[in-house]
Amino acid sequence: MYLSERVKKVSPSATLSLNARVKELLRKGEEVVNLTTGEPDFPTPETIKQAGIKAIQENFTGYTPPPGIPELREAVREKFLKENGLNYAVEEIMVTCGAKDALFLLFQSILNTGDEVIIFSPYWVSYPEQVKLAGGNPVIIPTGTEHIPELDQFKKYITPRTRAVILNSPCNPSGKVFPPELIEKITEVCIEKDIYLVSDEIYEEIIFKGKPFSPAALSPAAKKITLTINGVSKTYAMTGWRIGYVGGHKEVIQAMSKVQSQSVSCASSISQRAALAALKSGKEEISRMVAIFQERKEFVENRLDKLSVFTPSPIEGTFYAFPRINYQGMSSEEFSFYLLDKAKVAVVPGKPFGKEGYIRLSFATSLDNLQKAFLRIEKVL
Ligand code: PMP
Ligand code: GLU
Repeated sequence: MYLSERVKKVSPSATLSLNARVKELLRKGEEVVNLTTGEPDFPTPETIKQAGIKAIQENFTGYTPPPGIPELREAVREKFLKENGLNYAVEEIMVTCGAKDALFLLFQSILNTGDEVIIFSPYWVSYPEQVKLAGGNPVIIPTGTEHIPELDQFKKYITPRTRAVILNSPCNPSGKVFPPELIEKITEVCIEKDIYLVSDEIYEEIIFKGKPFSPAALSPAAKKITLTINGVSKTYAMTGWRIGYVGGHKEVIQAMSKVQSQSVSCASSISQRAALAALKSGKEEISRMVAIFQERKEFVENRLDKLSVFTPSPIEGTFYAFPRINYQGMSSEEFSFYLLDKAKVAVVPGKPFGKEGYIRLSFATSLDNLQKAFLRIEKVL
């Protein structure tokens, strides 16, 4: 069939397709332990669910304004101010269908054909593909064994076509939290060169070491060039509700809103009410979930440490481990298939994250499942 050149250049999301594949195996009765999935395994907290139910019962079921319902944009404004020291006006905020949609709308709004976006590897699988879908060129900068970007290298990769750089801290898949001084220095370079800084802060609450850092809070100049991306998916176990949000310069937000109005129209009205309840719900549920992630993180680090096949690196945030692998010369894809085939444990190879020689294991699953997975991996290796 006739397909656009643009779409032909794009790969499907490796994380989502692997997850779907494992779910299909489970449906057929295969005993696979799924460590691919990048979503909390907890149900959405009760008060948030009730807000969604109430929205339906009150017939809050129509289209909303493309940038979101005013109450939710106001709640995001308060959240940014209180928790991130960001002083956005409501017009500088919009609500999207997940943080993924926010990123998609952003690249559609700021990139012309051939514009470059700098992405540090390892990166979340969707960044380069979304840049390509917008006609841009992803420019990948490799990092060392600790997966932390280097300032001098960043400067070297900047060209007159560089439009944006993406920072994701805590980082999926590496689990690293970037040092605030580094983020600050990268921001200064972006200001000087007039490059957009895309700060993906979706894992800000799932952090075990260090503190989240919002570069837009550094100065008015930093705020002007930064797009702060966040959402409720990870923080409130709400991946399927599809609500994200973004703060940024009014003109960029208006452009994104225009694209939203001509594509999906708006985020779901019901989900927006639920997200409003989430942002108003306090920190108790988050702390409970993060404490559970912390316990699992320690378990995973311990077990990875015991196997010579893996060279793990401390996990500082997110719910992912990203160890280096060294097993019979296998590539990350071969090794992942080997684990699936022989141990019935599903993980994601490092390759689609732009870092060969590593695998990503998600510990957004129960300790029982993790225990089962490691017993099987240990037996097979
Ligand atoms: N950024 C990163 C780094 C992610 O891992 C995810 C997870 N899918 C997203 C953005 C998007 O999340 P969502 O669309 O569910 O808000
Ligand atoms: N962010 C998650 C992951 O990396 C969810 C899947 C996706 O949207 O890619 O697994």
